[in-house]
Amino acid sequence: MTDFDYYAFARRHIGTNGFEQQQMLTTVGYDSLDDLVDAAVPAAIHVREAPESAIPAPATEREALAELRALADQNRVRTSMIGLGYYGTLTPAVITRNVLENPSWYTAYTPYQPEISQGRLEALINFQTMVTDLTGLDTANASMLDEGTAVVEGMLLARRASKSTSNRFIADADALPQTLALLASRAEAVGIELVVRDLAGADDLTELGAHFGVFVQYPGASGRVWNPSSVIAASKEQGALAVVAADLLALALITSPGELGADVAVGTSQRFGVPMGFGGPHAGYMAVRKGLERQLPGRLVGVSQDAAGHPAYRLSLQAREQHIRREKATSNICTAQVLLAVMASMYAVYHGPAGIRAIASATAAKARMLADALREYDLHLEHDAYFDTLSVHVPGLASTVVERARDLGVLLWEHDEATVRISVDEATTVDDIHAVVRAFGGPETASYSWFQVTNGLPDELRRTSTYLTHPVFAAHHSETAMMRYLKSLADRDYALDRGMIPLGSCTMKLNAATEMESVTWPEFASLHPFAPEADVRGSLALIEQLETWLAEVTGYDTVSLQPNAGSQGELAGLLAIRGYHHANGDTERTVCLIPSSAHGTNAASAVLAGMSVVVVACDELGNVDLDDLRAKVETHAATLAALMITYPSTHGVYEHDVKDITQAVHDAGGQVYVDGANLNALLGFARFGDFGGDVSHLNLHKTFCIPHGGGGPGVGPVAAKAHLAPYLPGHPLAQRTDHAGGFVHGGGPVSAAPYGSPSILPISWAYVRMMGAEGLREATGAAVLAANYIAVRLREHYPVLYTGENGLVAHECILDVRPLTAATGVTVDDVAKRLIDYGFHAPTMSFPVAGTLMVEPTESEDLAEIERFIEAMIAIKAEADAVGRGQWPADDNPLRNAPHTAESVIAGEWDHAYTREQAVYPVRSLVRGKYWVPVRRIDQAYGDRNLMCACPPIEAFA
Ligand SMILES: *Cc1c(COP(=O)(O)O)cnc(C)c1O
Repeated sequence: MTDFDYYAFARRHIGTNGFEQQQMLTTVGYDSLDDLVDAAVPAAIHVREAPESAIPAPATEREALAELRALADQNRVRTSMIGLGYYGTLTPAVITRNVLENPSWYTAYTPYQPEISQGRLEALINFQTMVTDLTGLDTANASMLDEGTAVVEGMLLARRASKSTSNRFIADADALPQTLALLASRAEAVGIELVVRDLAGADDLTELGAHFGVFVQYPGASGRVWNPSSVIAASKEQGALAVVAADLLALALITSPGELGADVAVGTSQRFGVPMGFGGPHAGYMAVRKGLERQLPGRLVGVSQDAAGHPAYRLSLQAREQHIRREKATSNICTAQVLLAVMASMYAVYHGPAGIRAIASATAAKARMLADALREYDLHLEHDAYFDTLSVHVPGLASTVVERARDLGVLLWEHDEATVRISVDEATTVDDIHAVVRAFGGPETASYSWFQVTNGLPDELRRTSTYLTHPVFAAHHSETAMMRYLKSLADRDYALDRGMIPLGSCTMKLNAATEMESVTWPEFASLHPFAPEADVRGSLALIEQLETWLAEVTGYDTVSLQPNAGSQGELAGLLAIRGYHHANGDTERTVCLIPSSAHGTNAASAVLAGMSVVVVACDELGNVDLDDLRAKVETHAATLAALMITYPSTHGVYEHDVKDITQAVHDAGGQVYVDGANLNALLGFARFGDFGGDVSHLNLHKTFCIPHGGGGPGVGPVAAKAHLAPYLPGHPLAQRTDHAGGFVHGGGPVSAAPYGSPSILPISWAYVRMMGAEGLREATGAAVLAANYIAVRLREHYPVLYTGENGLVAHECILDVRPLTAATGVTVDDVAKRLIDYGFHAPTMSFPVAGTLMVEPTESEDLAEIERFIEAMIAIKAEADAVGRGQWPADDNPLRNAPHTAESVIAGEWDHAYTREQAVYPVRSLVRGKYWVPVRRIDQAYGDRNLMCACPPIEAFA
C-alpha cells in the first residue's frame, strides 16, 4: 500500500485485508484470489480481461461527496404544490436523526427472526394500528411499495375475493394519473377489463354493468371531496368489492373509508414525515375489512406469545408466503418499505391524535384561505368541497400561471390548458400562498393568516370517529421521550451495527456512512417526482450515470431504475418479454419455465405478468436438471415465453451448463430471464448479457449497498438487451423517455414514480464511484473467499450441501443441519435460535432447502467476526452432540430453550440440566458484549390461531 492508496474506499468496504486473505486462501487451498476465482467461476463465462470500462477510476470518500454535491447543485428545490400523491411534510428532526440516519434502524433485516426484531415489529404494529384507525378498517399490513401499486394490489385482491364472475374493474376518472396508468398496464397483463368512469357524476350505476370491483380516489385527484357511499353500496350490491385510495392526513378530518362501506383502503403514508425524495421511497399502505385479512399482500405483523407466555410480535400468516404458495401467492411483494413505515408510524406517535388533527386542520385551513383569496379575483374553482387541493379554472392561461408561479419559487400543476391544480400541505407557508396568488395576478404585497380560518370540507363528511387512541400515541410527545422510545426499540433489535447478519441470498454487506450521507440533502430529498426537467437535472444525470454503470457490469444495453424492489424488477422484465412476444405476433407464448430451486417471487411475478408457470427439476448437485429442461422446452416449444433462472443458483453454486441452458431456450424461441439477486458472486467476473441473458433484475439493496431498512426500501433495476428496451417500464409523467445510451422505454409503468425510489440511488452511485471497476472485482473475490473459507472450516461439523465442480461454492454456502437433526433431535430452528445467545443473527433458514442454513458472509466482514461465527457454529454443534449423547434431555437443553432472556436465567429457581453460564455466556467474550434478547422463543402457531394485528392493550405487558 502506498500513502496514495491510504484513502482508497475499497480498503474500508472490504473487511479482510491482504494478509488475512492469504491465511484464508491457504485454508481453502489456493495461492491467490485469482486462482480461487479461476477455479470457482466456470471458464465458459469468466471474463478475465476487464472491458474498456465506463466506470471511472475510484474516487475517495471525500471526492465522491464533492461530485455528489456538484450533482445536487444542478437540482433546484422550489416549493412543490404539485400534489398528486406527493406532499411537503416536516420530518421531526428527532426522527431523521434517530431513525433515518441511524444504522440501528436502517441496517436491520426483514424481521423473519422475530425474537431479535421486537423493536421494529413494535414500530410496524404501530404503523398498522395507525392505518386501521385512520381508515376505519379492521386489519392493515406493514407497508406496500407505493400508492399506485397498492391500488393495483387492491384490484387483484378484489379479483381474488369477489364472487362476481365479471372480469371488469371500474376505476374513478378522478384518480391520480400515475395510478390510472399502472392500473391500465397491470390489468391488461392479467386479462382484467378496466373501465374508467366519472363516479362522482354517475347517478345510475346500473349502466356500468357487472363488475368485480370498483375503485374510488378519496379525495379525488382534482381535490374534490364527495361522498362515495352510494357508489360503494351499489357496487357491492352486485357482488363487487370497493377499493378506496384515501389520503391519510385528510382522514383525520373526514369520514373514514371503512365507515363509507369500503372493503379495502390503500394509499401512501409519505406525508407522515417522509420526504418526497423525487418519488420515493415511501411506504404505501393497505387495510381491509374483517374476513379479508388472509388476502392481504405483503407482510402482516401480529401478536403472539413467547415460551414464557409473554406477548411478543412476529410476522403472521405465512410470512414467506411466496416461498410456500409460489404461483398461488397473494402477491409478489417481498422487500417492502419498512424503514419508511417506521418513520411514518413515529410521526403519528410523536404528534398523537391531537397533533395529527391539528396538522390536517392547518392544511385544510390553508387551502380554504387560498381558495378565498383566489375567489376575490373572480377565479372559478372547480369544486366547492375540498381538503388540500384546488382546481382553478383559467381558460388558456394555465401554462402562463404555472410559469409565473415557478419564477416565484412555487411549482403548480398544469392539469390541462384551462386548469391549474394546487395542493397545500404541512410545509406550506404564507409566503408560498402569497406567491400563488401573485401567479394568478394578485397584488405584490398582501398578508395572509390561516388562524381561525375553517376549511372547505362538507359537513356531511366531517369525521366523528376517534383514532390513535392507543396509549402509545400519547406517551412520547416530548422530544426526550421520543428519543428514548426510539432507542429502547432499537436496543431490542439485532442489526449490522451489532454483528454480522450472514443471510444467504440477502447480501447483508456494509452500508457505508459516506454512501448514506447525501440521502437527506434537500436537493435530493425535497424534489417532487413530477417537477420540471430543468429543476431536476442533477438527479437525472446521476440516474443516467448509474444506468450506464449497471449496464456495463451486467453486459446489457439498457437499464431502468423504476422498479422499487427485486420483485418489481422481475415483473418489469417479464412484462418486457411479454411485450416483445406480442409485438412479434407471438401472443400464444405464455409459458414461463422456473427451476424448482427458484426464489418464491419468481413464480408470483410470472403470474402477475400473465404467464403460466412450469417447474423444471434440479439434480442432486443443485443444478438445473438439463434433461428435464430440454424435455420441458420441447414440450412447450410453441408456447414458451421465457426461462427464469437464478445465477449463480439459489443453491449458491455456479452452474457450468448455463450457456447450454440459455441456448436451448433461445433455440425454441423463448427469452432468458436471469434473476440477478446473487450478482455479488459475479460482479466483475462474468456478465449475464454475455452468457445468454436477455433481461435481469439486480437488487441494489443487496449487491449495491442500499441498506435493507428492516425490510425495505429496495431498488430492483431491470437491465436488458436492446431488443427489449421498447417494452421496459415507461411513465406518463416522466421528465424524459430516453435512457442512457439513447434507449426509449415504452412499456407501462411498474411504480408510481418515473424513477421509483430515486432518493436512495446516491447510495449505489457512491458505492460504484468509490470502488471503481477494480474495487468491485476485489469485493467479489473477497466475498467468494469468505464463503468458501466458512464452508471449509465448517464442513466437518455440518455437511456443505452443494458445491460446484472444484468443490467450491460461490458467495454463499448451504450447511445441512438435517443429519444433526436425525442424530440428536436438534432442529435447524434450535440452531438458529441458539445463535442469538451467542450474539448472532441466524443465517437464512430452510431456504432454498428445508432443514438447512444458508450462510453468506459478504466481503464486508473481517476475519475476526468470521472466526467468531465459525466458533459459535462449532460450539453449537458440540452442544447438539451432547444432547445426542444423552448428557442433556432432548426437551431441556440450551438449544431447545434458546434464546435465553435475562429474566429466564434470573427469575425463580434454576432447575435445568445446564448452568446459567452455559445458557447466556457460552463463550467468554459475551460477558462484556452481550446482546440481551427481549423475548424467549416465539410460538408461531399461537399467533396465527389468535390473529391480532394492532397494538395490544398495555396491560398485556404488565
Ligand atoms: C432477494 C431476492 C429476490 C427478491 O427481491 P426483493 O427485493 O425482496 O423483492 C428475488 N430473487 C432472489 C434470488 C433473491 O435473493
